[in-house]
Amino acid sequence: MGAQVERRELVIIGGGPGGYAAAFMAADLGLQVALVDPEANPGGVCLYRGCIPSKALLHVAELIEQAKDASALGVSFGEPEIDAAKLREWKDGVVNKLTGGLGHLAERRDVEYVRGRAQFEDHRTLRIEGADGPGRIEFRHAIIATGSEPTALPGLPLDSHAIWSSKEALELSEVPERLLVVGGGYIGLEMATVYNALGSEVTVVEATPGLLPGVDRDLVEPLAKRLKARLHAVHLETKVSDASQLEQGAEVVLHGPDVDDEKEGFDRILVAVGRRPRSVGLGLEHTRVEVGPDGFIVVDESRQTTEPAIFAIGDVVSQPMLAHKAHHEGRVAAEVIAGRKARFEPRAIPAVVFTDPAVAWCGLTEAQAQDEGREVEIGRFPWSASGRALTTGRSDGLTKVLVDPDSQRVLGVGMVGPGAGELIAEAALAIEMGARAEDIALTIHPHPTLSETLMEASEDVFGEATHI
Ligand code: FAD
Ligand code: NAD
Repeated sequence: MGAQVERRELVIIGGGPGGYAAAFMAADLGLQVALVDPEANPGGVCLYRGCIPSKALLHVAELIEQAKDASALGVSFGEPEIDAAKLREWKDGVVNKLTGGLGHLAERRDVEYVRGRAQFEDHRTLRIEGADGPGRIEFRHAIIATGSEPTALPGLPLDSHAIWSSKEALELSEVPERLLVVGGGYIGLEMATVYNALGSEVTVVEATPGLLPGVDRDLVEPLAKRLKARLHAVHLETKVSDASQLEQGAEVVLHGPDVDDEKEGFDRILVAVGRRPRSVGLGLEHTRVEVGPDGFIVVDESRQTTEPAIFAIGDVVSQPMLAHKAHHEGRVAAEVIAGRKARFEPRAIPAVVFTDPAVAWCGLTEAQAQDEGREVEIGRFPWSASGRALTTGRSDGLTKVLVDPDSQRVLGVGMVGPGAGELIAEAALAIEMGARAEDIALTIHPHPTLSETLMEASEDVFGEATHI
């Protein structure tokens, strides 16, 4: 791209699951699209340093744990030998295959992929700093899809050698002997699961009284129990301060009810205390795009900002910061720009923490219902009563269904158990379709599968579950 101003119908800033989904949809609807991102191919945080590399490593962790658990079933394997270089190569190969594939898909759709960083000069013009030198694009519409970045903690700077964000943790440059994970949320617990399986001695500290704050306690309990048995320590209501750099790692003071201001040394510290929207440094001050006090860009149901030519989607606009939410918002924004009537108004956005066991939920949670004083009927099915769960040697699970007492409509579903992440989509469909508990209960589910737990939890709403 040269120094002269070029014109495009639609420019999308950021090539993550929001940005590339928007670009592909817009191109499919006949728009002339440019997609700007600094990476070699589309993919964003999710593919390069988020969902995909973490799930590749979690798959390996699952294999290691299953092999260990197999001794209780009469099959013993030796201690795993971990070739970190080979594992890293395989994980990077998965990422490259997927991002390369997206590059091809962009080409096939005639989406112009511009490698660089974009900044608004005004409400119609972007300046691109890229490999081919600076350029400028005048657009009719733009979509901001710049995602999010990790939040740092005071005293634990993310640019220091011993302190990791999820990016460094996923690089797998080493398997530290002692790893401290600060934050018992999605990233903290997924990465604790990975490094524990790979052989690190893992300590988790969480500031609130429970892991995965906000998630229903009965869903978190089986996970907390298994983590407690496997990790070196889990400290709740605990914070970290006074980090000092050591040659081989860092020393920190832990403040909490069961640590008594102890000083402890760790080889690496993973800080996973949340992410913030990437809305700074985009030149938004040269436009009328409004940014809220929490850094999220303000948008309406069609994902249009307060500057009519500019839309925004994904992590940069709201919680939950999840790839599938960004993807759907991207498609809605593209449709609206192409002239279709579309709105982003999901009844349920499924969430999955891919730990062992996994925790998954969508729609209304029990905690939310309690906070809102909303009456619900709840059907529960413990996986200890599931034939399928027992055949896998893992019955530490629960499926529950929350329904409206008057209409019997399904309002929310929660699950915990190995593989729960693969089951929650049925619940999302039920909620979106306005299904009643009876609809799920009367749908024949294949036997023996874990999917039957959703059917039986729905039967339990009427006190008629066969196996409990
Ligand atoms: P992003 O994926 O963040 O992409 C934004 C892109 O914009 C980036 O490539 C960035 O470089 C680019 N960009 C930023 N500024 C500019 C600029 N000025 N010009 C041009 N380009 C720019 N979600 C799930 O649903 N499931 C999971 O299993 C999951 N696992 C995760 C694991 C980890 C470790 C992390 C960190 C996140 C995970 N997430 C997961 C969250 C998921 O990655 C995000 O919700 C998702 O990537 C958001 O998509 P997005 O399109 O909004 O932005
Ligand atoms: P998070 O919000 O999930 O968890 C952060 C945790 O850190 C919370 O439990 C919080 O109470 C705790 N915390 C905050 N300050 C602390 C402190 N000073 N000391 C100790 N604990 C502290 O954030 P995350 O784990 O960084 O992940 C960011 C986001 O990325 C997630 O919210 C999610 O949207 C997305 N993500 C999704 C997946 C998935 O879908 N499987 C996986 C990883 C990340």
